[in-house]
Amino acid sequence: MLVRLLYASRAKVAMTDQDLTAILKKSREHNPIEGITGLLCYTDGIFIQMLEGGRDAINARYNTIVRDVRHHDVILLSYDEIGEREFAGWAMGQVNLSRLNPALVLKYSQTSKLDPYAMSGHALTALFHELVSSGAIVCS
Ligand code: FAD
Repeated sequence: MLVRLLYASRAKVAMTDQDLTAILKKSREHNPIEGITGLLCYTDGIFIQMLEGGRDAINARYNTIVRDVRHHDVILLSYDEIGEREFAGWAMGQVNLSRLNPALVLKYSQTSKLDPYAMSGHALTALFHELVSSGAIVCS
């Protein structure tokens, strides 16, 4: 059984490129072994991560991530059983949100500033899907 989990959190301190690289490196080591795919976004002190994979693997990895001291205020935005992966190609894609079109954010939220704490999981998932399918975000 496959599930897709979406959460947001706040970084304890502003992340440097090295900090983010360390998290991505660890993710890309672990996730393929566990059959986990997904995306990690970091912008303005906020993480948004989408994880896809087997239910047991996702539950276990999420529990590890929640305990990580590098972030706090972890909010589970959505958790769904899925028929297929949306981000199958990415062991853990890194999304650059700096080029995000404010009009697109406004389509799904109250203001044009991306604030996952003020959005439903459904809206944020829809925004992600639109960004990925339109090529508006890059996976580096
Ligand atoms: P270690 O790497 O030895 O880490 C053990 C613990 O030490 C960590 O949980 C953390 O609390 C702490 N720690 C590690 N490095 C640092 C550091 N540089 N500064 C401060 N404390 C540190 N891991 C994945 O495998 N897949 C993911 O998709 C994933 N996504 C993540 C997303 C976010 C936003 C964050 C913050 C972390 C993510 N991680 C992910 C990392 C995850 O939380 C664990 O740190 C990691 O999986 C544990 O790896 P390890 O068992 O080798 O232990």
